[in-house]
Amino acid sequence: MTPVKYVTISELVRVHACPVRFFYEKNEPVTESHRYTVCKQLSYHLGKPLDAEAIWDEITAVHPLVDPAHKEFLGICITACNKTSWKPAAQTDVRVASDKYGMAGMIDRVDADGAFSLVRASGAMPFGTYVADRIRIAAIVFCLEEMTGREVTGGTVEYIPDGVSRYHEVQPRDRRQVIAALHRLREIRDGAMPQHPLNAPCHRCKYREKCESSVGRRLSELL
Ligand code: SF4
Repeated sequence: MTPVKYVTISELVRVHACPVRFFYEKNEPVTESHRYTVCKQLSYHLGKPLDAEAIWDEITAVHPLVDPAHKEFLGICITACNKTSWKPAAQTDVRVASDKYGMAGMIDRVDADGAFSLVRASGAMPFGTYVADRIRIAAIVFCLEEMTGREVTGGTVEYIPDGVSRYHEVQPRDRRQVIAALHRLREIRDGAMPQHPLNAPCHRCKYREKCESSVGRRLSELL
């Protein structure tokens, strides 16, 4: 039997944002930002006293080359998180997978009631959640429903720099976007050249020049 080649939920989110950019970067290793290292390490302490020195020690152990200037960022995150009440995690870094959809990912925190949350290093929007986060939640819901056989209605996104915890109830639109991204990702893996999307975030993309000169031509002619 041929082993299933899983796609990761992170890849799905990147393909949804722009399949062309994903194509350009598909063989590049994904590196973790220092901001994320700080937020992720802080998240292990949510629901308990946030001791800046102890958390910074862990951060430098995890990422010895972390920019020391990020200690100030850690302080900002702790001040923001201290304004909210958090449930401690019963489990952290829980792998989830769906054989049906051939995808896998990781849940950052699961509380004692089984509710899950994802840790983000970005600030929160005034209301709601970013589309990328809604896709992350929906993909995890697909995996959990298959793993547990029960309906899962949604999950929480924790925007650490703002100390904001926001629940998102998964909508049919979110599930559709996960399925569409899965199809697009498989096509790219099978060698298809992605089309330039009409609504890609080109204004803040480093490939803008490359894409502007390639519109109308096959990417394979350029790479
Ligand atoms: S410039 Fe636009 S189309 Fe090109 S890779 Fe970036 S986001 Fe995608």
